[in-house]
Amino acid sequence: MKKAAKTGFDILAKGGSALDAVVEAVAVLEDEGVFNAGYGSSLTIEKTIEMEASVMDGKTLRAGAAGLLRDIRNPVRLARIVMEKTDHVFIVGEGAEKLAKLFNLERRNPLTELRLKYYEQAKQALLDGKFELPKLAELVKNHPELFDLETVGAVALDLEGNVAAATSTGGFPLKIPGRIGDSPLIGCGTYADNRSGACSATGVGEIAIRLVLAKTVCNYMESGKTAQEAVEAAIKLVNERMAGTYNSMGLIAVDTRGEIGAAHNSKHLCWAYLKPGMREPEAALTAKILK
Ligand code: ASP
Repeated sequence: MKKAAKTGFDILAKGGSALDAVVEAVAVLEDEGVFNAGYGSSLTIEKTIEMEASVMDGKTLRAGAAGLLRDIRNPVRLARIVMEKTDHVFIVGEGAEKLAKLFNLERRNPLTELRLKYYEQAKQALLDGKFELPKLAELVKNHPELFDLETVGAVALDLEGNVAAATSTGGFPLKIPGRIGDSPLIGCGTYADNRSGACSATGVGEIAIRLVLAKTVCNYMESGKTAQEAVEAAIKLVNERMAGTYNSMGLIAVDTRGEIGAAHNSKHLCWAYLKPGMREPEAALTAKILK
């Protein structure tokens, strides 16, 4: 996490854009192998991998996303290509793979031994129990360790006052092939607007989609809340409106004053930040937990 924060910050310190910072920070996390994004992505119920990612530039409101990706090394880079090189916002599957080929994006088999092990354990637990697909709630409740979501995201504010956000994931473990989560959906897992700030979400995608969560955080910031107040208000909203539903959410945000925010109702939120005046990034396994 510290490496990702430092990568993004170094770009910003040299006058680079918030957009470059979030893409490069997320690419570091996608390469790490320990997160559920890029190399190390979770498996679908059919033992395949379908990665997805998105990016948004708060200055122009341009956004790009890609989904159903099998072997793109850095899905976030493809999201950026969708944003900058096409007239579209969201491209999935074959079309996305073709676009990646056109722009010579690197390929890498995202499958790791660790994910394969998690998959086998989760699948066995699913088969042993009385759980009914696609309602995994019971299974998740009994085996939370198999469902550490581990999507990655980054938010940044640059020297020119522009914000950006990016998010990347392998998606919810044991998802049905073809399922799209919140991470590549603009407004749900990712949002950035220079009038408010930037936000990236993690957690059960279906919840973030139904609450348009990242945009909700930005709306709160636009109406005057700091980034911290905004993510806390959004987690409270999740707790109120999704009470009784397995939700395990986490949010990071930056507002246009450069204040940062992080809050979650999941057990952990692994995060790091680096601001002017700090020598080294700070990293932690929790932020403000709101139950
Ligand atoms: N939000 C992701 C999804 O539902 C999962 C995660 O955050 O790890 O696809």
